[in-house]
Amino acid sequence: MNNLYSSEQFEKQYTYTGSDLGANWTPDRTVFRVWAPTAQAVWVNLYQGGTPNTNDRLEQLPMTQAENGTWVAEKQGDLNGVYYTYVVQVNDKLREACDPYARTTGVNGHRAMVIDLDATNPEGWALDKDPHGGNPITDAVIYELHIRDLSIDPDSGIKNKGKYLGLTETGTANSKGMPTGLDHIKSMGITHLHLLPIYDYGSVDEAHPELPQFNWGYDPVNYNVPEGSYATDPFQGQVRVKELKQMIHALHQNGISVVMDVVYNHVYKTEEFCFNQIVPGYFSRGGSNGSGCGNDTASERSMVRKYIVDSVLYWADEYHIDGFRFDLVGLIDTETINQIMQAVHAKRPNVIFYGEGWSMHSAVTKRDTILTCQANAYRTPKFAFFCDTMRDAIKGSVFRGEDPGYVSGNGDLAYAIHRCFMGLPGWTNRPDQIVNYASCHDNLSLFDKLTLATPGQSQQKRIRMNNLAAAIYMTSQGIPLLQAGEEMLRSKPLGHGKFEHNSYNSPDAINSIKWGVLGNEEYDRVVEYYRGLIAFRKAHPALRMTRPADVTKHMIPMAEPGNALAFHITAGAGGQMQDTVVIFNPGHADLTTALPSGKWTCYVDHEQAGNKPLFTAEKQVTVAPISAMVLVKE
Ligand code: CA
Repeated sequence: MNNLYSSEQFEKQYTYTGSDLGANWTPDRTVFRVWAPTAQAVWVNLYQGGTPNTNDRLEQLPMTQAENGTWVAEKQGDLNGVYYTYVVQVNDKLREACDPYARTTGVNGHRAMVIDLDATNPEGWALDKDPHGGNPITDAVIYELHIRDLSIDPDSGIKNKGKYLGLTETGTANSKGMPTGLDHIKSMGITHLHLLPIYDYGSVDEAHPELPQFNWGYDPVNYNVPEGSYATDPFQGQVRVKELKQMIHALHQNGISVVMDVVYNHVYKTEEFCFNQIVPGYFSRGGSNGSGCGNDTASERSMVRKYIVDSVLYWADEYHIDGFRFDLVGLIDTETINQIMQAVHAKRPNVIFYGEGWSMHSAVTKRDTILTCQANAYRTPKFAFFCDTMRDAIKGSVFRGEDPGYVSGNGDLAYAIHRCFMGLPGWTNRPDQIVNYASCHDNLSLFDKLTLATPGQSQQKRIRMNNLAAAIYMTSQGIPLLQAGEEMLRSKPLGHGKFEHNSYNSPDAINSIKWGVLGNEEYDRVVEYYRGLIAFRKAHPALRMTRPADVTKHMIPMAEPGNALAFHITAGAGGQMQDTVVIFNPGHADLTTALPSGKWTCYVDHEQAGNKPLFTAEKQVTVAPISAMVLVKE
């Protein structure tokens, strides 16, 4: 069957191209359409409620065979709020499944719900838009956050703890009166908030919010449905839709664009996934395990490809999502990724795309399938990739906690930093394809990594290493991304000098943002330094070039002793780009270095960063130990 699904003949006969899969609601009637080419018969079960194993079936409608393997049924009347499932007979076996095109569901995603989507729109939604629409992707400063981590700490001052609505609250503060939550994020000056999975995933039981449960959510159940555990009521299908839209609207109104983490490369449970129930085994590359989750998605099959394209387009259109971060995109084929971007950009050219382009081994079902990894970056020109070269060069390998990086004493990595700073990580020369970062949800937090890699070092020196790390990726050509809380030395301690490197299901005590650290001078200074780096970056197009030719023309590496690095970025772009010098000194002694001719004003040094002039220099300048310096020519 697995090979038959990918055959030319099967695809010719059974590729449905319409845009009406799912339950199409109008006040007068609802039309259901499902793709089930191998079914002998299909029914729609209508239910009063959304809770599985509840004896509240209203009716069973037989479906009629229609075009290209689809089945349709129609029901008169207003079905808004009615729950439903499909019952599919394949090889004389009956299976009941949720609708792969479900717009929302009841608790834990077992039953889909017919929904009037317009009725879920918050006030002002028609005018809601991406606050950074029209800007190049290299203007973005991305902040990666898990919904629950933001608000669940007892000192967050946020009422809707662990919920979508927690991100709509302003005026919140910790016990020392320091701003928290949305106010804090906004004050950092970031442009894009990248949220870990917000689609419906399976590892948290939505029916029992009182239990201590946590998961990152890389276990998709319903791709087009918001996760229920972040809603105030996971039992009523419209609530999660409404509250997620409210959250996105609030973020947009506060000048923040929203990026969604999408995980199309595998599903929670292969057999139980609704698409695989309706068309057995169709969605997955049988037995292929590049994702480590046992069921790589067969994105090369026509109706899987359509499903993923439709899904991303739906989130962009219905929820006004401004960017998509693809988990393990190295398992998805380039044709699917290009079709997604083409479909979304046709209406929303501002939407940004990036992902994890690690090279993966996967048992693709068609011979000509090309996977979306870094090495194939040239095939997906508008799609950016996480730069692990930069990440590991800054702080050392993520696979060995004790390995130091450039900022923590490994001079061998100076050349890698040099290349990455210029937007030349080896697999692309386009700055708009490179996501530069020092930490994200995976692996040790930046500060924990620095702690493990520098035994016996002082806290003060580790903070300087932390700030040097931030200065490197914030001033490099590319798109900077930081993990939420990196700016307040986020840590995931396990005790006895150990730290959690994979907190995907760790308790809140490990994962939560600890707001109590704000108001403590040591932490506040780091926050202020990050804020300043972001503000400086945003004020200087010289750090945000988009074309390889500009990088080649304007970026001049300067000779420096030891492992120090310095670059002169020359003026250009009609006066928008100013002459800029960026110096990194990872050494433990002062570095005195010659400056190009002219009078230079320093905006970033070992203690401060921002758009306020700190001092001026001519001919030469001294850079403090373990620090960065950025100067602009007057
Ligand atoms: Ca769920």
